[in-house]
Amino acid sequence: MHIFRQTTVALSIGFGAILACMLGSIYIGFEHLDQTRGAWQRDALFREKVRAAFLLREAIRERSFHLTFATTMDDFFDRDEQRELYSSKAVSFLQARGKLIELRMTGPEKKAMGSLIARIVELRPRIDRAMDLVVESGNNEFALNQMRIALDGQSGVVKEINDFIKVVEAESAREAELAALAISKTQRNMLYLSGSAVALAALIGLLVTIREARNTRRLRRHRDELAALSTTDGLTGIANRRRLDQFMDMEWSRSIRSNTPVSIILMDIDHFKNYNDAYGHGAGDECLIKVAHAMSGVIVRSTDLLARYGGEEFACILPSTELNRAVEIAERLCAAVSKMEIPHEHSTAADHVTISIGVMATTPCPGDDLADAFEVADNNLYQAKEQGRNRVISSTVAVAKNKDTQSELLSPMALASSEGIT
Ligand code: GH3
Ligand code: MG
Ligand code: MG
Repeated sequence: MHIFRQTTVALSIGFGAILACMLGSIYIGFEHLDQTRGAWQRDALFREKVRAAFLLREAIRERSFHLTFATTMDDFFDRDEQRELYSSKAVSFLQARGKLIELRMTGPEKKAMGSLIARIVELRPRIDRAMDLVVESGNNEFALNQMRIALDGQSGVVKEINDFIKVVEAESAREAELAALAISKTQRNMLYLSGSAVALAALIGLLVTIREARNTRRLRRHRDELAALSTTDGLTGIANRRRLDQFMDMEWSRSIRSNTPVSIILMDIDHFKNYNDAYGHGAGDECLIKVAHAMSGVIVRSTDLLARYGGEEFACILPSTELNRAVEIAERLCAAVSKMEIPHEHSTAADHVTISIGVMATTPCPGDDLADAFEVADNNLYQAKEQGRNRVISSTVAVAKNKDTQSELLSPMALASSEGIT
């Protein structure tokens, strides 16, 4: 019971651990999803930032382009149109910048953005002023100078934007590396947890199988013990009447099938009532045990059966045994009991405990009745008592020719008696 409780506790802990591993796996699975989504979002963010930075750069370059054309090919452009173009590029620049500020930026990115804005703030008035002058004054030496100033300013801003893009790219590469590390760590943890769950489940399966096998063994042993108890006589430890009946039925059928003889020996302690009366019931029980033990020493063939038939009566079934051999054994049984010389002052047979024996042997045919065979053995036992006890009376029995007349199936053929052994 104690072991059972321990195993149950161990199994509960095991199942708990499996459950924890599985829940952990699910949790990590969700985390993995979050990480993947995060990585994907960061990637999208990076693209947005780069796109916005490119737009910034594009706006600046377009302005440079128009500025160049306005100064070198002013015949092709209307000055008002030039102004309009500048301001529209400025608007798209501002929009892109606004977008970048809106996006979540890392520390280094913010720093790079700050430096870009500072550079623009520094250069813009100069560029704007130069451009205004270029547009107003047309194609002359002064305008060309102004244009150079403006173009230098534009290049400064473009360089700053390129630096900013580099920072964004470096940040993205760093974040991607971190995300890849986190994802592979998560995958490893998931693998550990699910591996542990599988290993635990296998271990528990093994434990359960072992326990089941042990329980089955125990149950089988208990069943065998119970079966043995139900067929054993509680006082003497030899087979009981129930076992005798089963055994006799089996052997009777086997003898019929194989056409072999079977012998029955019935034994009864002489004047046992007197023994009880003289020495007490406890001594009577002791005597029964000793007698059974002495008989067990004679009946040693594994195919034979010695049983307590009831009260102070015993029976012995000897399969495949002819009458003369059965009589021999009966005489040895008689001698074995007598030899113990258990004092019995109130017996007419001897001054010690003795038994009387009735023996019969037959080769039964289909339809022969076992009860008839027992009756023959019982009659012989009665004869032994009648003839003075402490002796063996035997007879062999022929199977009746006419199977329809049950009452005549068995009839004593011969009667043999042996003198009492004292
Ligand atoms: P006989 O020689 O004709 O067989 O005489 P008997 O006294 O042996 O025969 P009877 O049938 O008159 O008495 C049998 C006695 O056996 C009666 C009973 O008290 C005793 N007996 C039966 N079973 C037990 C038992 O388990 N223990 C004890 N102590 N006595 C038992
Ligand atoms: Mg009796
Ligand atoms: Mg008796």
